[in-house]
Amino acid sequence: MDVALALAWLRAAAGAVAAESDLLTRLDSAIGDGDHGVNLNRGFAAVVAGLDGTAPAAVGAVFVKAGTTLISKVGGASGPLYGSALRALGKALPDGAEVDLPAVVAGLNAGLEAVRKLGGAEPGDKTMVDAFRPALDAFEETVSSGGDLASAAEAAARAADEGARATTPMQARKGRASYLGERSVGHQDPGATSTALIFRALADVTA
Ligand code: ADP
Ligand code: MG
Repeated sequence: MDVALALAWLRAAAGAVAAESDLLTRLDSAIGDGDHGVNLNRGFAAVVAGLDGTAPAAVGAVFVKAGTTLISKVGGASGPLYGSALRALGKALPDGAEVDLPAVVAGLNAGLEAVRKLGGAEPGDKTMVDAFRPALDAFEETVSSGGDLASAAEAAARAADEGARATTPMQARKGRASYLGERSVGHQDPGATSTALIFRALADVTA
């Protein structure tokens, strides 16, 4: 992955979040406060604006800057969670304008670890972790069996989408949706859904 691809991923993620903002807001209206689409759209638009016209020398710097922007621009749980994940990803990458696949795997692991550390969610708690964990597993498996970035990203995108769908029957144990108790059952988690969009964006730009 090089700097141009990292920028393309974030732009594609911003485009997907903008296009699906209404869906994310609708899902968050059912089990949260209805701001997830607006929150993320504002955050990713700021990420793109902050990176436009810049020429970062290292892949890691792209993600650190994006994460810092998300933390400062997005209120609610998802801004700090996604922001910390991107910052951790960026910091874990070795310095350089291009990083290899094992480094990306390690970086994504650092990103998920940051989400876990900050939010304390485990798989099954009906959060973005339920899309991120299977996406990362699929990514890692594909790389271990010799797959390239495009095939790893495609496997991750599919696993994230399945993971997001699988949150529907779950009862939320973390975040705002957990206040609903059993009434959170029967709705797809908004954060897991946006995580699936972000992995799909990576698959789109690497295909
Ligand atoms: P808020 O809940 O503060 O309004 P958002 O609506 O932007 O924030 O984001 C809600 C999403 O954040 C949830 O759908 C869930 O996926 C994710 N989330 C909330 N709390 C946690 C947590 N502790 N760990 C991981 N993800 C979480
Ligand atoms: Mg919300």
